Amino acid sequence: MMQDTTKKVAIVTGGGSGLGLAVATRFIKAGIHTIIVGRDTEKLNTAKTALGNLCYTAVCDLSDLTAIPPLVDDIIATHGQIDILVNNAGINMKKEFTEVTDEEFQRIIHTNLNAVFTISREVVKHMLHAGKGSIIHISSMAAQYGLPKVIAYSASKTAIDGMTRAMAVELSPKGIRVNAVAPGFIYTAMTDKALNSDPERKAKVFGRTPMGHMGQPEDIGEAVYFLASDAAKYITGVVLPVDGGNSIGF
Ligand code: NAP
Repeated sequence: MMQDTTKKVAIVTGGGSGLGLAVATRFIKAGIHTIIVGRDTEKLNTAKTALGNLCYTAVCDLSDLTAIPPLVDDIIATHGQIDILVNNAGINMKKEFTEVTDEEFQRIIHTNLNAVFTISREVVKHMLHAGKGSIIHISSMAAQYGLPKVIAYSASKTAIDGMTRAMAVELSPKGIRVNAVAPGFIYTAMTDKALNSDPERKAKVFGRTPMGHMGQPEDIGEAVYFLASDAAKYITGVVLPVDGGNSIGF
């Protein structure tokens, strides 16, 4: 199919809720055709109703790696191109280091890292053909400093930062920019649960966040949109903290 240079198509994994929904909202505001991917059909449909005609849904469990190539092929068949990929879908689990089972460790690595590799590889095949594209991974403060009780999550997000740089050096000469956004503590269902169950951790978070408050999902939406846009055309291989200074706070 011919590339339509007047339109842009983005995939946002986990775009039905939280930070992914904020990214999809920002993209749609900019007129970008946005496919949101998740496991929960109802969640995706609710998001689509709110976001309107430029929003498309794709139900897929990304931890089933064999489902990813057909997902990408379907998107290409329907939309003709993929200009932007945002790897946002992710899971977390808070548990003492010695209590984490091999299965739990691997489950988190599988969704947060293996699936990100597989979908990126499949999308990059099409971006290489087009000679352009922008990929944004969603990392975390857990890759900026040591956080207790999130061993698998920290390992997965630190690997994402490494993958951002490795992909950027290999793909940027071919027109594909690869960056990551590292959200600080942002209000979503995930952080609400994690922090409210641990007041000591909550106090610590605010104690080292110079701006003194949590971020909002739209702060991540704006940063991802910037990195995806031509305004960031000379930026590749960076991990951008959007964190109110949390990663450099004393
Ligand atoms: P969230 O609301 O729980 O969103 C996670 C999304 O990922 C959901 O929409 C979920 O959709 C999707 N997802 C999870 N597993 C999936 C799978 N196997 N296949 C397809 N979709 C899957 O969490 P969030 O806070 O917005 O987090 C989004 C990203 O930001 C994550 O990568 C997280 O690590 C990162 N992050 C968040 C914060 C924060 O403060 N919120 C801070 C640092 C990093 P379904 O349920 O429909 O599958």
